[in-house]
Amino acid sequence: MNKEKIQELSSSIFNEVVANRRHLHSHPELSFNEVETSAYVAKKLDELGLEYHRMAENGLVALIKGSKPSDKVIALRADMDALPITEANDVSYKSQNTGVMHACGHDAHTSSLLGTAKILTELKNQFAGTVKLIFQPAEEKLPGGASLMIKEGVLENPKPQAVLGQHVMPLIDAGKVGFRAGKYMASTDELYVTVKGKGGHGAQPQQNIDPVIITAHILTALQTIISRYNDPKSPSVLSFGKVIANGATNVIPDEVYLEGTFRTMDEAWRNDAHKKMKKMAEGIAESMGGSCDFNIMRGYPFLINEEKLTAATRAHAEDYLGKENVLDLDIWMAAEDFAYYSQVADSCFYRLGTRNESRGITSSVHTPTFDVEEDAFKVSTGLMAYLALKQLGN
Ligand SMILES: [Zn+2]
Ligand SMILES: [Zn+2]
Repeated sequence: MNKEKIQELSSSIFNEVVANRRHLHSHPELSFNEVETSAYVAKKLDELGLEYHRMAENGLVALIKGSKPSDKVIALRADMDALPITEANDVSYKSQNTGVMHACGHDAHTSSLLGTAKILTELKNQFAGTVKLIFQPAEEKLPGGASLMIKEGVLENPKPQAVLGQHVMPLIDAGKVGFRAGKYMASTDELYVTVKGKGGHGAQPQQNIDPVIITAHILTALQTIISRYNDPKSPSVLSFGKVIANGATNVIPDEVYLEGTFRTMDEAWRNDAHKKMKKMAEGIAESMGGSCDFNIMRGYPFLINEEKLTAATRAHAEDYLGKENVLDLDIWMAAEDFAYYSQVADSCFYRLGTRNESRGITSSVHTPTFDVEEDAFKVSTGLMAYLALKQLGN
């Protein structure tokens, strides 16, 4: 497939992609509530003459079939949900839904995939194979739209040989992209812990069971799960960001409440660590006369970019953008529900640079000042079309 042709189509739809992104940005919807967003995407697919069907309520799946015979299928995924954040940017396309904001760039992913769909639809008489478009809901909230769509069969009939996804990255300049083969993002589990003792006067500790002291021991001891039991070659993180002991200078509280996160990149170790943490926390509490409810809410698995697919995709990105615009990424201990696709199909999740320091577009995702440099859409649509067609053997 001729990359100049794709680049030309990509330039011709640039303004439309920006307009779609701005519409979505100003009308953000929370996870599992993407009703208007889904209707907007459906309308755009109608305009392209693409049939689609719904999955996981607000999700949409469509096929673009090339005219040349081929059994090959590739899936391209975009997420559509926004976050419970109040936008602080003063822009014409500012969120009109107070308290809700596209602060993770999913507006950019959705409008980019619509752009890619337009390019591929224009080219459908010239390629072999089938492209499956996945517009999924609820990336930001457990159990994750990806897991629901997989349960409902998004990776069947037809079954894709590969799944590609892109995500904005404010650390990379617009115009560039980043790849990492192998393990890339972490599994994430939420920890909700209550340490129970017996409260009373701070001057009479001998008559009470102090849950604050028990908690201090638990928090310190739990770090040895990471430093003494985990294989140091395998990344793991345990952080407790919420510790509430609501006593006073002279009051020992009845209980202490904790919330934390556990992240890693190995399923066997993940399961083992869950058991060890629970046993250690309960054992310490018991040995000190108290008790501990240690609850783990299992989150997304780790994300793995299949080695061969990622190497090939990276090489195709270099063809399309030039070597200087394709970067290597480091491991990133955040989580992403694209991980579910990566656990069951050969997948590649790459990063789209959206930074522009000269315009002050540098804020991290999930912050009220997050924005994307829209020039990135000169890359996002055509690149994904090119990567898909190359993977289909065109
Ligand atoms: Zn996010
Ligand atoms: Zn995201």
